[in-house]
Amino acid sequence: MNGSVDYLPLFHDVRGANALVVGGGTVAFRKIRALLSRGAAVTVVATELSRPVQELARHGEIHAITGAFRPDHIDGASLVFAATSDAHVNARVSREAKLRNIPVNVADAPELCSFILPAIVQGEEYTLAVSTGGKNPGVARSLREFLEERRAEVSVRMERGRRRRQIAPRKGKVYIVGAGPGDPDLLTVRALGLLRSADAVVFDYLIPEEILSLAPSRAVKLCYARKGRTAGHGAALKQIAIHETMVHLAREGKSVVRLKSGDPLVFGRGGEEAEHLALEGVEFEIVPGITAAIGCAAAARIPLTHRDMSSSATFVAGHEADRKDGSAIEWDHLPKDGTLAVYMGVSRVDVIAAELMEAGFDPETPFTVVENGTRPEQRVLRGILADLARVANEKEIRSPAVLFVGRSAGPLAQESFQEQQNESFAQSV
Ligand code: SAH
Repeated sequence: MNGSVDYLPLFHDVRGANALVVGGGTVAFRKIRALLSRGAAVTVVATELSRPVQELARHGEIHAITGAFRPDHIDGASLVFAATSDAHVNARVSREAKLRNIPVNVADAPELCSFILPAIVQGEEYTLAVSTGGKNPGVARSLREFLEERRAEVSVRMERGRRRRQIAPRKGKVYIVGAGPGDPDLLTVRALGLLRSADAVVFDYLIPEEILSLAPSRAVKLCYARKGRTAGHGAALKQIAIHETMVHLAREGKSVVRLKSGDPLVFGRGGEEAEHLALEGVEFEIVPGITAAIGCAAAARIPLTHRDMSSSATFVAGHEADRKDGSAIEWDHLPKDGTLAVYMGVSRVDVIAAELMEAGFDPETPFTVVENGTRPEQRVLRGILADLARVANEKEIRSPAVLFVGRSAGPLAQESFQEQQNESFAQSV
């Protein structure tokens, strides 16, 4: 043991409490003011009262006793402060208070205290308290100054917290909410606020448990799609069931969060769901989210646009390519100087690679596949278009994954991106 005290930090409600302050000078006055402003009933004992303390007594704000300290002054007090200029008197006050088990504070003598006062920063709605255990008042003071300077920042944070608390979903309304690519930290403030107080959550398999668990435990939770793509008739039935469920829950008077991975309007059928709600006259709102391509690009450091490498970003759905009714993607119309992000293409990467090359994409064009982007199990695979089918097969790429194709998706871009990051870091240091 080094003899230092490990204090328990406390905020004490002193409203109506009897506090005794021994001493009538400047230090005592500071304690008296602090006590009065928090509603304590203050008795002051001092041989001499300074002018401001006299004023308080004159206005009846304190009970002042002029004379030497006597132990019986402590009777009835629930807090005692000693702040005289006489160390013997202070020590005696401490002893007498401790004998009676009454908490005591002695100015500038932590060894005589049973409690100490922290340095504080007082905001309108908060109090920040800093203590070095009474050993290093200079450090406590400079920490307080540090916090004082950041008062505005603290207020902004408090405001943000307050706004989040105020986000409450309305009863009978459906919120079509984007949950982002998987990392719960990538939820928007609005998505989090709505989810936290929803009555019902309708979601699909891409929503991870960490995000779902943010909904109240009392909320109804319904999962509509299981892993593995439901095609054709099955998919249509499932979509109808989702539409009906949302309408039903809203008409029951519940606040409904329809939670969709990424952004609801990017390959998410959010548009169809919104149309159905509008038709049924159910109130709804769409809350955007970070779509998989944006989340995965950041996770794999792919600059979707870049002045030297990519002048556009195109998001396409890979599985639509197997439709033969003319709605398939026209691969040869895709910009070759941009970044291509292919969603839902995992099961067909071999065909997609072949179609891209047939459409005039250089076989040397780099690709990056990001599987489970932003999630703990994230995998990033890189290569060139000519090798995509082989890599996908060997590395057993699984859904969900986004395939990026373009110069920005290659190792070259990686290096120069890295350099740029280092440069901007160097500049900012
Ligand atoms: N609305 C979603 C897309 C839904 S379609 C969005 O905006 O992101 C489902 C496809 O999204 C998956 O097949 C995959 O291509 C992609 N995807 C979703 N989450 C992903 C993730 N965490 N990592 C990689 N791809 C993901």
